[in-house]
Amino acid sequence: NADMAMYSVKESGRSNHRFYDSEMDKKSYGKFELERDLRKALEREQLLLVYQPQVHVESGAIVGVEALVRWKHHERGMISPADFIPIAEETRLIIPIGEWILYTACRQNKAWQEAGLSPVHVSVNLSIHQFQSPGIVENVAHILRETGLAPQWLELEITESIAMHDVEQVIRTLQGLSDLGVKISIDDFGTGYSSLSYLKNFPIERLKVDKSFLDNMIESPKERAIVGSIIVMSHSLGLKVTAEGVEKVEQVQLLQELSCDDAQGYYFSRPLLPDDCAKRLAENAIYAGGR
Ligand code: C2E
Ligand code: MG
Ligand code: MG
Ligand code: MG
Repeated sequence: NADMAMYSVKESGRSNHRFYDSEMDKKSYGKFELERDLRKALEREQLLLVYQPQVHVESGAIVGVEALVRWKHHERGMISPADFIPIAEETRLIIPIGEWILYTACRQNKAWQEAGLSPVHVSVNLSIHQFQSPGIVENVAHILRETGLAPQWLELEITESIAMHDVEQVIRTLQGLSDLGVKISIDDFGTGYSSLSYLKNFPIERLKVDKSFLDNMIESPKERAIVGSIIVMSHSLGLKVTAEGVEKVEQVQLLQELSCDDAQGYYFSRPLLPDDCAKRLAENAIYAGGR
């Protein structure tokens, strides 16, 4: 994938200077193009959200969906967020794009609820500049009012690395969001350097254990022990745990044994287009009834 290659060149180009000029030119040309097109992506209506179900491990009921952004480029096809979110961040385009994502996810969830589907929360990823922008709390409040979505049905995901930035500022913002009634979860937990003792004072509801731990959990008793103790400690601090990137039935069995609350991954479902997600939510009533 050309975009992937471009992104990794950019990343490695930063840490070492072994690249020849021609390669640098090629790379900056690609990035310039991508940036120029990203500026127009919103007005051209090329962005869309897909939704990945989050499942209650014990009952199998869908309890939430994570909104994941996609860019349908007119020439390059689908571009992954891993390739364009960093550029959106650098150029501050993340502010309008992030607002569009929040608005679209809330409006979609409200529409599903109004259609009578079993209510679930929608999780929206916040990137660092979006989280740090001064108007973020007011912005979220405004979007909830506009869309009519009740705050308890919105969950915001911030990564561990965002949480590690400027503790007092982070806690102030999280408190503001939490006061609105919105839920907060820590995404990709375990990949950074934060710890549960660091996070214990944060007004958060949930940890999402990173896929890397889940990948190794079948073969490695040590990784399993780590996931197990994250779950035990989280529960004793009143936090819920979601396992990310679950692909195999063996992982689900282990998560059941470890009393993990929720799980998300290809085993349950890939991210879905809105209509397909609505179908899954319609089937969900059967499970939810049995809870
Ligand atoms: P994330 O928030 O940790 O999202 C999970 C990623 O793992 C998604 O990739 C999802 O499709 C993928 N995934 C889920 N289950 C499985 C699985 O079982 N196996 C594998 N191999 N992958 C799985 P995606 O959609 O490409 O997103 C990548 C990252 O881009 C996200 O990581 C998030 O950091 C960022 N991102 C995505 N959408 C948004 C958005 O709307 N706003 C912001 N700020 N960032 C976003
Ligand atoms: Mg996420
Ligand atoms: Mg994640
Ligand atoms: Mg992740």
